[in-house]
Amino acid sequence: MNRRFYPCWRKLWLALTVLLWAWRALSQDATPTRETLNLVPFSATEIVAVERVEHNILHRPIELTEDNNHWIARAYAYGDTRLNTRSVHLGVEFVNERNTAVYAAKAGRVVFAGDDSKTLLGPQLDYYGNVVVLAHNLYSLAGRQLFTLYGHLEKIHVRTGQVVGDQSRLGWVGSTGVALGPHLHFEVRVSDPFDYRQTRNPELWLQHYLEHGMIVGSLRNQDGDPIAGKRLTVRSTSTLGSRDVFTYGGEEVNSDPVWRENFVAGDLLADEYEIVVLDENDALAYQERVQVEAYRTTFVDIVLADGNVRTIEK
Ligand SMILES: [Zn+2]
Repeated sequence: MNRRFYPCWRKLWLALTVLLWAWRALSQDATPTRETLNLVPFSATEIVAVERVEHNILHRPIELTEDNNHWIARAYAYGDTRLNTRSVHLGVEFVNERNTAVYAAKAGRVVFAGDDSKTLLGPQLDYYGNVVVLAHNLYSLAGRQLFTLYGHLEKIHVRTGQVVGDQSRLGWVGSTGVALGPHLHFEVRVSDPFDYRQTRNPELWLQHYLEHGMIVGSLRNQDGDPIAGKRLTVRSTSTLGSRDVFTYGGEEVNSDPVWRENFVAGDLLADEYEIVVLDENDALAYQERVQVEAYRTTFVDIVLADGNVRTIEK
C-alpha cells in the first residue's frame, strides 16, 4: 500500500468505525429486540383447561408518591357500561388531581403525542384530548406487540418518535377530550396502536399491589356464550367488604387470548372471597368460595346452566 495514503485510510477506517457504532447505538433504540417476559407459569395442578399464564408486568402509570392515587376506579372498569348509561369502557381510570405526573408503564417509543382532534384514536375525534401512545418492546403470548395509551392529559411532556425510559414522565393528569373531571384514562392495545378495537384489559398487564392478587373469570351460559353486562358480587369472607363487578358489556372490548375472561376483579387483598351471581329474579344462581393469593391470579369458570340454578330462602 502506498504510504502516502495510509493516514487517509486510517481516517476513513476511524470514521467508518464511529459511524458503525453510532448506527448500532441508534438502531438499538429504533428497532427494539424482543424482551423476554417474566412470565409466571401456573403449577400443573392449577392448570384448568388450557395453559394459562400471568403477565402482570406494567407499572402503575402515576408518579409513585403517597399523595397520588394508584388504585383503579372501580365504578367504571374495563368493559363496563355503567348499566348501559355510558359507552363500553376501553381502559381504566386513575382518578387524580389535575397536574399529577403521568409516568410510562414501561420503557418504549412514543408513537403518538398530541391532541386527537385530527387523528382518530378512539370511537370519535377529540375523544382522548391530549394523549400519548407508547410502543413497547413487549409482546403478548400470541406474539402481538404491546402499546399503552394515556388520555385526557392536561399537558404533554414528550414528542412523537422520542424514546422514553420505564417510569419516566409523559405528561400531567387533566380532563381534555371526553372526560368528567381530571383523571388518567389508561389503555393497553395490541398489534395496532391506532385501533381502539384492539384493547385488552389493563388489569391483566399491571403489576399486582403489595399483598394483593386478583380474580379473573368467565361467566357463560349453557351454550358457552359469554353473558354480557352481568353483575357479580365479590365479598371477602373475613372483612365482609364487597365489590360489584360487571362482565364485559360491548363488542369493542376483548378477552385476553390466554385467559378468555369476561370479568376481572383486580387489586384484591389476599384472602378468601365468595362470588355470588343472582338471576333475573334476584334468586341465587351461583355461589362459590375462592382463595386469592398475593401476586397471583385465581381463575373462575362459571356456567349458568338452568339445571344448576340454586335458590335459597331469603
Ligand atoms: Zn376512561
